[in-house]
Order: sequence, then structure tokens, then C-alpha cells
Amino acid sequence: MSDTRPLQRLFVPQRLAQGLEITLERAQSHYVATVLRLQEGDEILLIDGETGEWRAEIMHAHAKAALLRTAAQTRPLETPADLWLCFAPIKRGRIDWMIEKACELGVARVVPVMTQRTIVDRLADERLRQHMIEAAEQCGRTHIPEIAPLARLPALLNAWPTERRLLFCDETGGAALGMAPLDAPAAILIGPEGGFTAAERDLLRTHPQATAVSLGPRILRADTAAVAALAAWQALAGDWR
Ligand code: SAH
Repeated sequence: MSDTRPLQRLFVPQRLAQGLEITLERAQSHYVATVLRLQEGDEILLIDGETGEWRAEIMHAHAKAALLRTAAQTRPLETPADLWLCFAPIKRGRIDWMIEKACELGVARVVPVMTQRTIVDRLADERLRQHMIEAAEQCGRTHIPEIAPLARLPALLNAWPTERRLLFCDETGGAALGMAPLDAPAAILIGPEGGFTAAERDLLRTHPQATAVSLGPRILRADTAAVAALAAWQALAGDWR
């Protein structure tokens, strides 16, 4: 490329290696050839979520089937902080925003949780995964966080891994996040817009791995609470240090 703009990054579904020829599917070909206006000889970065980041050359900028060839690896696969975001699904728009921000903030995995006051009963998995991928392309992640299947809160708690800490964000009060045990592996749990029920709160408070934490004196919207808790955890215990 003639200028020094950072290279665009694209996720491809196949496993990458040096010297591979890759034909992009139609939407990505259109994006590369028509939106980015890349031409033969231009370069782009590719990620597959498994092998890191690779430089690739445009061999043929066809708007329906662009052909690329991978060159050297530019970065290895990242090892994200071992932090999960467990959240009660919220409505479209807000959930998309939350997934995007969780990816940018470096979560390893997101776990949608069905709670008593959750009003969304199914997830648009493919749409959420697409948001996750776009956020990873944009922020330079080489690992794409997994989106776990929707689970009911009691089932999730029953099967909770013994070594993983669960920081349960409780708007009715808890330990200040900065004072809570902050070590990995960990998970942050955010309730739905209607909050947790008293029964759920009891269940959580008696769970051996869970600690109720407060995010301050204001009631935050679920999406804000998720982003605030993730950022605070990364600053105190994660990869912002
Ligand atoms: N409807 C509830 C608020 C729910 S806020 C009410 O009016 O009381 C949605 C979720 O965000 C909560 O379940 C909690 O997990 C998190 N949250 C919001 N503000 C919080 C705070 N100050 N401390 C801890 N968690 C908070």
C-alpha cells in the first residue's frame, strides 16, 4: 500500500498457515475489493482465532471471490486473561454492544445466563458471534471469545468449576470490587435489567465460589455494569497492569 495506514484485519474461518491460497466468501470479497478498494499486491492481516495473525497479499481483488495468499505470521495467538463474562441476555442493540465491549475488554469467554427476570428467551447466536468477530478484527485480538450456550442460573451454578471465582455483581450491595478477591480464573456475573430475585441472590450468596460485589452507589444498566466490572477487573487483576 502506498501510505502507512494500519493494515485492515479480517477473520477467516479456515485454519491459517504460511503460503496458503484463500478465496474469500462473497461478502468478504465485496468488503475487500469494493469497500476497502484493495488491489492486487495490497496487503491485509488475517486471523482465524486459532493460530494468531498473518500477513496476506491480495492476488486477485475480485469483488465476488477475492483471492489472497498468506505470507509470514505477524503475531502469535494471544493468551487472554482467564476471565469470563456471565450475563443475563438483554434486548437487541444493548446485548450487541455488550458483546462488542466484552471482546474489546479482553474476556476469554461469554456465558449467557437465563435468570428469573430475564425477558429474552432465545439468543441470535450467529449475530452475536458476528459482533464478537468484528470487535476482534477491530481491536486486534487474535483469539475470538467463545459464546457458551444459554444456561439456567441454577444449572450453571451446579456445574460451576471449583477453581473459578464468581464475582456476582449485586446492586443491593456487596464487597467493593477493589476489595473482593481478585485472581484468575474468574467470572463476572451481571443480572438482567430487572435485577436478580431474592431467591437467586440467596442461591448466589451461599455458593462457595461466589462473592457478592458492588459497583458503587449508583444502579447501572446491565450493559454499563458489565463494561465497568470488566474494565475494573482488568485494571486491578488482569492485563491492564
Ligand atoms: N432493576 C434493578 C437494577 C438491575 S441493574 C433495580 O432497579 O434495582 C442490572 C444488573 O447490573 C444487576 O443485576 C447487577 O448485576 C448489575 N449492577 C447494576 N448496578 C450495580 C451496582 N451498583 N453494583 C453491583 N452490580 C450492579
